[in-house]
Amino acid sequence: MSTIEKNIAKVAARIREAAQAVGRDPASVGLLAVSKTQPAAAIREAAEAGIRDFGENYLQEALDKQAELGELPLTWHFIGPIQSNKTKPIAEHFDWVHSVDRLKIAQRLSDQRPAELPPLNICLQVNVSGEASKSGCAPEELPQLAQAVAAMPRLRLRGLMCIPAPSEDPAEQRVAFARLRALRDELPLTLDTLSMGMSQDLEAAIAEGATWVRIGTALFGARDYGRPQ
Ligand SMILES: *Cc1c(COP(=O)(O)O)cnc(C)c1O
Repeated sequence: MSTIEKNIAKVAARIREAAQAVGRDPASVGLLAVSKTQPAAAIREAAEAGIRDFGENYLQEALDKQAELGELPLTWHFIGPIQSNKTKPIAEHFDWVHSVDRLKIAQRLSDQRPAELPPLNICLQVNVSGEASKSGCAPEELPQLAQAVAAMPRLRLRGLMCIPAPSEDPAEQRVAFARLRALRDELPLTLDTLSMGMSQDLEAAIAEGATWVRIGTALFGARDYGRPQ
């Protein structure tokens, strides 16, 4: 087994154990492989081991890898910050966007989603830890943003996403994830998705209802940001 195959098996076991610990079906937790900074060869290897969903943060890097891997039947998720001049290629080349945090971006994605493609799956990113520098809409802004996005014709609002302030304490990790779940449950909409949990805190996220865990380091190893992006 290659390192990536071994890592996939380890992460799958963590997901299974975390789900079973709280009486959830492990199949209700999707594994989104976060492949930012990783070469196309690593994605190919993970795909050969059965991974279908890949998350990318940097648009040009993602487009280059998609072009290289075009023959593979992969589902692409955009999970990074979005500048408004980048929405068109995102609308054209991705199946999901997890990091929508303002109306203008959502409107542009809806306007620019090609007619021949299905509606773009959307998660609204919420700043659950209240850090000034973090992306994500404020919890108070969420109901209005969600209503507006749910009405956009070329978007399909699926749920919420968060990146809480890092914490080593599982109880503290759960507080942030529970907050995202509560915000989802309080909306007057039926949303099936909670995109939360990364390599360090996937157990806490699954305990609080994650339906996508976004895993980079635990699958691919440490990232090398020296690589051109
Ligand atoms: C990089 C990244 C991840 C993966 O983080 P790891 O700690 O490497 O698992 C998940 N979500 C987002 C939004 C990211 O940018």
